[in-house]
Amino acid sequence: MGYNLILLGPPGAGKGTQAKLLIERYCIPQISTGDILRAAVKDQTQSGARAKEFMDRGALVPDDLVIEIIKDRLSLADTAAGFILDGFPRTVAQADALAVMLKSNGKSIDHVISMTVDNEELVKRVIGRLTCRGCGKGYHQIFDPPAVKGVCSACGAELYQRDDDKEETMRSRLLTYESQTAPLIKYYSSLGLLRPVDGLGSIQEINDTLAKVLEG
Ligand code: ADP
Ligand code: AMP
Repeated sequence: MGYNLILLGPPGAGKGTQAKLLIERYCIPQISTGDILRAAVKDQTQSGARAKEFMDRGALVPDDLVIEIIKDRLSLADTAAGFILDGFPRTVAQADALAVMLKSNGKSIDHVISMTVDNEELVKRVIGRLTCRGCGKGYHQIFDPPAVKGVCSACGAELYQRDDDKEETMRSRLLTYESQTAPLIKYYSSLGLLRPVDGLGSIQEINDTLAKVLEG
């Protein structure tokens, strides 16, 4: 059986990295609003043009836009047996909208995995992050380098540094996280759904911890 999961945590906590491993283990799709928005910016769609100015300054894209994106994505058949939300919800309004959306389809969230990493480590991780232009997989220049420099080990496409992975923008993103997203920790804790996980440790160790949390 699959799971309906949320990965919650600040930028650089390891959500995308762990999501890619969970996809393989549980055969459920990763839904990253960041990836969807970056694709919209690249394709120069109307949503992309609207989102870009917020993304460039490390702010959140307006709720109505991301909620619409998630509504469309969750209506696709590949989410029937479960899904991993990575980077959504990021505000209480998004969490409320998600609950309504799922309920109308007779679904609900099973677990909210809350990953904690201290800010200085988050900055180190994000400024060294390399992202694949093809499949979106993340690497790190030092902590998780690709086998061949500049090339995605999974799909062979080129790796690049995201525009918002500069130190100054990252500091803004951390403040945005504290003020707008961290309140979701209490929100999901009071619903009995929060599963706190220490995000420090090797990628494999954290993956093992997640499997234990999910499989009991
Ligand atoms: P998020 O999706 O939460 O923003 P990522 O999964 O993209 O974070 O990870 C951010 C950066 O940190 C990437 O460069 C990734 O390779 C690296 N990273 C992820 N997990 C770990 C870890 N456990 N230890 C060290 N570096 C990590
Ligand atoms: P991420 O790839 O998750 O680090 O997201 C990159 C950027 O996309 C964020 O800094 C926001 O500007 C925007 N974004 C991604 N997900 C959301 C969301 N759920 N709500 C608002 N903005 C988002």
